[in-house]
Amino acid sequence: MLTIVNPATEAVLRELPEDTPDSIRAKATAARAAQPAWAARPRGERLRAIARFRDSLIRDAEALARTLTAEMGKPIAHARNELRAMPERIGFFLDHAGPALDDEVVLRRGEGGVPELEERIRWEPLGVVANISAWNYPYFVASNVFLPALLAGNAVLYKPSEHATLTGLAIAERLREAGVPEDVFIPVVGAGSTGAALLEQRLDAVFFTGSYATGRRIAEAVAPKLIHLQLELGGKDPVYVCDDVDPAAAAAAMAEGAFYNAGQSCCAVERIYVHRRIADAFTAALVAEARGLKVGDPQGEDTYIGPLARREQLDVLGRQVEDAAGRGAEVRTGGRRLDRPGWFFEPTVVARADHSMALMREESFGPVIGVQAVDSDDDAVALMNDTEYGLTAGVYTHDRGRAERILARVDAGTAYWNCCDRVSPRLPWTGRKHSGLGSTLGVLGIRAMVRPKAYHLRRG
Ligand code: NAD
Repeated sequence: MLTIVNPATEAVLRELPEDTPDSIRAKATAARAAQPAWAARPRGERLRAIARFRDSLIRDAEALARTLTAEMGKPIAHARNELRAMPERIGFFLDHAGPALDDEVVLRRGEGGVPELEERIRWEPLGVVANISAWNYPYFVASNVFLPALLAGNAVLYKPSEHATLTGLAIAERLREAGVPEDVFIPVVGAGSTGAALLEQRLDAVFFTGSYATGRRIAEAVAPKLIHLQLELGGKDPVYVCDDVDPAAAAAAMAEGAFYNAGQSCCAVERIYVHRRIADAFTAALVAEARGLKVGDPQGEDTYIGPLARREQLDVLGRQVEDAAGRGAEVRTGGRRLDRPGWFFEPTVVARADHSMALMREESFGPVIGVQAVDSDDDAVALMNDTEYGLTAGVYTHDRGRAERILARVDAGTAYWNCCDRVSPRLPWTGRKHSGLGSTLGVLGIRAMVRPKAYHLRRG
């Protein structure tokens, strides 16, 4: 049984039967059998099913947001924001699936209008794909995969995170109501061992969103299969605040980037470098911002910081803060678990941080941020790149040229100027180094769901 616990109260919300190796095998067999007929349908039918799915998310947004908040502790305002952003994402895929998936004739050579030689690319679905997902933005991270996968004619075995299973099942139910056949999108319920059992099936691709540690384990498990593998993993995303900005405005932006969704975003700001000229003013303003955030019941309308989704992370954050303090950092606000039921950690700002501290090297994934002063843009770039990760990096400055010069030198899949913690359906979402392999979103994210067949057609 999978026990679903409300992280704000520690009360059991539901007990659900977990999939077993036998049921997972049966699901994989059913998906394999159903996929060709789904791929053979006119694309318009698949597009219309996904459009109906979009309508159902709009219709049921409030109830779905409440469920998400109950099972993973995301403040209700943030859960609503996630659902509110879904129609635009879905719209991107509906608008671009056609152009991205249509056959492409790249050469047509002939005489008198009669083609003698045609070279054509046809994009064929991968087949049966596993979508193993995280809990922090369960609608975003799962749909980045299953929307283009379904539109391209694949069948999807979808394992939601054990911390967002009710949301995963709600997604599956709505896809079925929208006309996606039951065996074409199949939820697989359970935790890590269930994911591992899923990987033992005959699959054509694996799309994973989660931590580097699990991603690496998955890469090792699927390596002998020689199938397509994409990994969207963690980050230690830096922002550099230059000396020409208003410290208070930059601090307000950083507070949102670091603390939104209790810092549990893959692209949350995890390290701040600030030019020494404004470091004191900036840090004081960031501390004031952190102290002003309302922590509490995530179902409350004005709550900004809810509990962490996972109890274990409380210890990770506690250790990072303790380690930093032991190495000379100043814990300017927060630093402890809240003395109340639920897995709450105070919004925390640590000044005088440096790279000897785990806080500046290892993913925190919580409402904790370290700040380090730097003397130059070169120092900032060197520190930004001094990491095993490469998801996003940002710069705050009034000078676009300066920002572009810095961003050209950062080794990350996404570069931000005067913004952070932002994802666009129109741009590829891709991590470097330990942050991942491959791209979702954008046209590349649609093409990730197909494989090319190259046609050489000569009239005999
Ligand atoms: P996780 O790695 O603990 O789990 C992710 C998924 O993998 C879950 O569904 C889990 O049940 C499953 N799993 C665990 N062990 C497995 C195994 N051996 N085989 C197969 N499946 C297994 O990660 P999480 O706690 O759900 O998510 C947080 C992490 O995800 C953070 O590191 C965050 O940065 C990252 N993340 C990255 C992105 C991105 O776009 N790059 C987006 C969201 C989250």
